[in-house]
Amino acid sequence: MTRIKIGLDAGHGGSSTGTFSIDTAIDGLYEKDYCLELVKLIDKYLKLNGFETYLTRTEDVDPGNVSMRAKKCSIAMCDFALSVHFNGFDSESANGTECYVPYEETAADIEVGFRRELIKYFKERKPFARSCGPRSRNDILDKKLNDKEATFEATSSKKDYFGFIRDCWRAGISADLIEICFLTNRKDFDVYQKNKEEIAKGLARSIVEGYGKTFKESASSVAAKPPKSIGSGRLNKNKVDVKL
Ligand SMILES: [Zn+2]
Repeated sequence: MTRIKIGLDAGHGGSSTGTFSIDTAIDGLYEKDYCLELVKLIDKYLKLNGFETYLTRTEDVDPGNVSMRAKKCSIAMCDFALSVHFNGFDSESANGTECYVPYEETAADIEVGFRRELIKYFKERKPFARSCGPRSRNDILDKKLNDKEATFEATSSKKDYFGFIRDCWRAGISADLIEICFLTNRKDFDVYQKNKEEIAKGLARSIVEGYGKTFKESASSVAAKPPKSIGSGRLNKNKVDVKL
């Protein structure tokens, strides 16, 4: 009986620090550190719910470029992969949360949850879910989330700009890249620091429920039985297929 396997990619690592935070000058922590911390929290909650996980990195190292990270998730035979990032800007004005999804993705079972959970804490950047590419991040396609149907209204067969998403999709793995919030915005940063455990729990809940399972918050409430069956991932599957 195979279990569902989730790839978790903590953005950056090692010499690739990612963006700085509003407190980097004080504590020396960068985006890479926040990504890894959050991925480990999400990992904990997914395991509590009987999911297998694969982390592209578990310490402060650079596991390779985005294509290499996607390849690792493919080799690990992940069903879904999430790349965790934080945003930064050269002024405090920018804030909020957003999620990049593959152009060709039509099922929004998991992303509906991501939005529900993240907008509890951060402003929804318009739109929350978007695709971009193939040439640049400025070539954007709204992915309008239909909450009731758990589908995306806008899809296209372009190639994705974000290499992690693009190469995961090519390998048959549905993948998202989330920019949790802006580390360079004091309010976003403080709200994140205060609520990171709940945010991790919410993101894990979104994945668990996206696969049609009931989310358990603690070890004592975890069902002993593994899921009855799984699909081969969310790629090219309608929403019924991903339900267990
Ligand atoms: Zn990043």
